[in-house]
Amino acid sequence: MDIKELYQDIILEHGKSPRNKGKCKGYNHEAKGYNPLCGDKVHVYLKLNDIKQVENLTFEGEGCAISLASASIMTELVKGKSVIEAKKIMNDFLSMIKNDTVIKSNNLDEDQKTKIMSLSGVKQFPMRVKCATLSWHTLNSAMEGKKDEVNSEAVD
Ligand code: ZN
Repeated sequence: MDIKELYQDIILEHGKSPRNKGKCKGYNHEAKGYNPLCGDKVHVYLKLNDIKQVENLTFEGEGCAISLASASIMTELVKGKSVIEAKKIMNDFLSMIKNDTVIKSNNLDEDQKTKIMSLSGVKQFPMRVKCATLSWHTLNSAMEGKKDEVNSEAVD
C-alpha cells in the first residue's frame, strides 16, 4: 500500500465512523461552523479544566467525508492536550494545508502524525480545503469563546 492509499483509507474510515461524536458531558465551551461551499456543518463541544487542558472534545456535524474525517481526527489528536499545545497542532495543520509545511508539533506520536497528514492531499483540491479546515477554525472559536458562527468563507 502506498502512502496515498493509506491516507485515503484513514479519511474514508474516519468519514464513515467519526470518533467523539455527540455532546460531551460538562462542556464549557462550544462553537458552530458552517461551510456554505459544500454545506458542511459542525458544532464543537469543548471541556477545558482548571489547568487549561482539553479534558474532553466532541462534535456534532453533517457534511462530506472530508469534513467529518477532519473533525474526527481533530478530536482524537487534541483531547488531553493543553490549550497551548492544541493551538500549536491547529497552526501546524492549517499551515500544512495552505503552505505544504511539515508537522512540527512534538506532542504527536507517529501514528497521530500520519492521521493528521492524511488530510494533506486536500490542498490539491481548493474546493475541499474549507471542508478540511472548518472544524479546526470552529475549535479555535470555541477556545477563544467567540459567539458568532464560523463561516468558512470568512476565514482562510
Ligand atoms: Zn465538505
